[in-house]
Amino acid sequence: MNIILFGPPGAGKGTQADFISKKFNLYKVSTGDLLRNEIKEETKLGNQIESILEKGSFVNDNIINDLVIKILNKKHNYNNIIFDGYPRNINQAKSLDLLLMKFKKKITCVLNLNVEKNSVIKRILGRQSCSKCGLIFNKYFNIPTDKNHACGPEFLLTRTDDNEKTIANRYETYLTETLPVLNFYKKQNLLHEINGTKKIDQIYEEIQGIITSL
Ligand code: AMP
Repeated sequence: MNIILFGPPGAGKGTQADFISKKFNLYKVSTGDLLRNEIKEETKLGNQIESILEKGSFVNDNIINDLVIKILNKKHNYNNIIFDGYPRNINQAKSLDLLLMKFKKKITCVLNLNVEKNSVIKRILGRQSCSKCGLIFNKYFNIPTDKNHACGPEFLLTRTDDNEKTIANRYETYLTETLPVLNFYKKQNLLHEINGTKKIDQIYEEIQGIITSL
């Protein structure tokens, strides 16, 4: 089973991808996480792309596709993946199809988290992620506590691209570049619409229902 979690920045893809990955034993591929890791490790690629992420622009398709190829090349991964934040434009969607074809695999479904612009902006401005365990929280809607987060508040960070100026650019790029990808999957009858404005556990329940019924 290979699933794509789709939606605007701040829709809650990362949070849901973590739940689904655990429950259905899928390997989470977040291109955003992979890129942030390169920056954190100060690799050559990380140094090249840091300013691109700061601005909220897209990293070059060849770089993204190379990162994904590396993961798909590992045999245990290639039919067991949940993609978060990829593919983000038509070019990436087409190259993912070709890649999966090479391994005789397919996308099982695409789950679109529908959330309107004002809500995603609020969510992004409250987002915090743990630098130790990777869990994602929100200062307003999903508050980290001793019960849901064992690492402690000192590990909680706000992403440098989660500021008002960058969000505007990221949302605009989503509308022009990423939204057309939905139609690409709709034509293949792979698309499932999810109301992403509900509570986290209600969204997760809806997603579980869809995946279990596949
Ligand atoms: P995300 O964590 O998915 O919000 O991604 C953070 C940033 O990483 C984006 O704003 C882009 O700059 C970059 N990025 C992540 N995934 C992709 C992708 N598939 N294609 C191009 N750029 C990406």
